[in-house]
Amino acid sequence: MKWIIALLLAPLGLYTGCEEGAPAPFDGEGAWQYLVQQCDFGPRPPRSPGHEKTVRLIAEVLQNAGAKVTLQRFEVDDPYGDDPLPVINVIGSFDPEKTRRVILAAHYDTRPWADQEEDESLHTQPIIGANDGASGVAVLLQLAKMFSLRTPREIGVDLVFFDAEDYGKEGDPEHYLIGSQYFAANLKGYRPECGILLDMVGAKDAAIRQEGYSLEMARMLCLELFGRAAQMQLPVFVAERNQAYYDDHVPLLRAGIPMVDLIGLPYPWWHTLEDTPDKCSDETLRQVGTLLADFIYRYSW
Ligand SMILES: [Zn+2]
Repeated sequence: MKWIIALLLAPLGLYTGCEEGAPAPFDGEGAWQYLVQQCDFGPRPPRSPGHEKTVRLIAEVLQNAGAKVTLQRFEVDDPYGDDPLPVINVIGSFDPEKTRRVILAAHYDTRPWADQEEDESLHTQPIIGANDGASGVAVLLQLAKMFSLRTPREIGVDLVFFDAEDYGKEGDPEHYLIGSQYFAANLKGYRPECGILLDMVGAKDAAIRQEGYSLEMARMLCLELFGRAAQMQLPVFVAERNQAYYDDHVPLLRAGIPMVDLIGLPYPWWHTLEDTPDKCSDETLRQVGTLLADFIYRYSW
C-alpha cells in the first residue's frame, strides 16, 4: 500500500521534502578545481589582488548556490604598517529563517611571509597557500553547490570564510585570527549549535588527528566526527590526539560554541613557498568533504 501512495504522490513533488542524505557523493574533483583556481589568483593576503579575486569568487559561488551573502567588513590597526588593515569575512547563510544553525568555516587569506623557509632572504615573500588557505575554502565551496541541490533538513548552515587568520608574525599571537576574533566578538545573538573549522585539509597523504583544543572543549563533537570517519572508511582521519593549535576555532570556543578544528598538521611545507597544488590531492579533499556532507545531512546533534 505504501508504495502505491508514494507513486500517487511522486508526480506532485510532495516527496521531495522527505528526501534525506546528500544529493550525490561529494565531488573531490570539483573541490580540486576551486583549490587550483584560488592558487592561480596568486598569494592572497589582505590588500593583494589575489585576495580581492578570492572574495569575489566566494561571494559568486555562494550567491549562485542560493545563500544569503554577507560581507563583514572592518578595519584594524596594522601592527606592521601605517595604514589601517582592511579585513573582510565572507558569510553565506543557507535557509536563514531556520533557528537551529551550524557553522562551517575556513580561512581564505594566505600568509604574507614565508617565514618557515630555511633561507631567511625568502621570509619577506608571500606564500601560495594551496593547503594553508585554498584547501578549506575549496571544500566549503563544493559543499555550497551540494546545499543548492538539496537543503539539509534539520538545520540552516552558515559557511564562514575568515580573513586575516595568518597575518601575525611569529611570537605575536595577538595579530593572528583577526577575522575570527572579530566575528566571535560580534555574534549579536547568533548562537549556532556547533561548528567545524577546516584548515590545511588538502595535503597528499594527509593525517588529520584530533586537535587538542577541540578534543578538550568540543569533545563530544570531536569524537563523533572521528568515529563516523572510521565507520565511513576515510583514512585521512586518524583517531589520535594531536597537539593544540591556536586557530580560528579558539575565539568561537571561548564564546561558548563547540567547534572542532580539522587540521592537517604537521605539514612539511607549512608557511613556505612550497605550499603549492602539487603537494595536495583531490582524494584528500574528497574525504574531508564526504565527512562534512554526512555530518550535515544526517545531523542529529
Ligand atoms: Zn597558516
